[in-house]
Amino acid sequence: MTTTPVASFSALKQEQLNEFLHDRIQVPDDLQPNVMVTTLDKVYNWSRKSSMWPLLFGLACCAIEMIATAASRYDLARFGMEVMRPSPRQSDLMIVSGTVTKKMVPAIVRIYNQMAEPRYVLSMGACATGGGPFKEGYSVVSGIDKYIPVDVYVPGCPPTPEALIYGLLKLHEKVERQSITTVPWYRRAGSESIPVPILGPDVFDPRKVQIIKEHTLGAGAGSAVSSAASQARLQPQSMPDDVKARIRAAQAKYRAQKQPA
Ligand code: SF4
Repeated sequence: MTTTPVASFSALKQEQLNEFLHDRIQVPDDLQPNVMVTTLDKVYNWSRKSSMWPLLFGLACCAIEMIATAASRYDLARFGMEVMRPSPRQSDLMIVSGTVTKKMVPAIVRIYNQMAEPRYVLSMGACATGGGPFKEGYSVVSGIDKYIPVDVYVPGCPPTPEALIYGLLKLHEKVERQSITTVPWYRRAGSESIPVPILGPDVFDPRKVQIIKEHTLGAGAGSAVSSAASQARLQPQSMPDDVKARIRAAQAKYRAQKQPA
């Protein structure tokens, strides 16, 4: 039995490149060391990841670590990220750094919608990712990813500057894997804005109004039981006689105490 020698991948690649370079593109000899063959995706992604401008805003204590990351000791300038833009129109990256209160959610979503594409979101810290120590608090949401899409999560309370830099490198890796032919912002339909949540007694997504109505007021098909229960709750309840008597007695006692002696 004879075995066929298998050419190594690098030898094959070199063979292909040699043919490509020498037969189809006539590169002068003195430029040979300076010519590189690559893909459009590679150049496009490299330029985007090397100049990703973060949006300048912070929500709570995590923002202090983000500020430290941008200062001289950690030096975000080596990634081309030192220019934190005060305008969403000029930003590629939103770093959600800090506790996300219900009051802030509409503003965050509005700013996200105003960012030009391609845009990315990094959730920094336990609060932005899942509510952190304030989870289930009356004023805090359990993660910004319930409202806008998040690309990278950085855990910690607060994450160190090193952790944030690691998260940024992961985001760079994600950018490098994208292709100009499949990214959503070049598709014919484009991408839609996210409806800005409404802050009332609680914050809610306007896309879920119908579901909220059905669960609270019992409107809509298939909710006959909840409808009956809701209607019963809305009816004024009659007060038992003994309770009424106790209230009248307490009022009389109160009035007697208030009488001038
Ligand atoms: S995760 Fe910790 S450090 Fe960051 S905002 Fe929340 S409480 Fe502050």
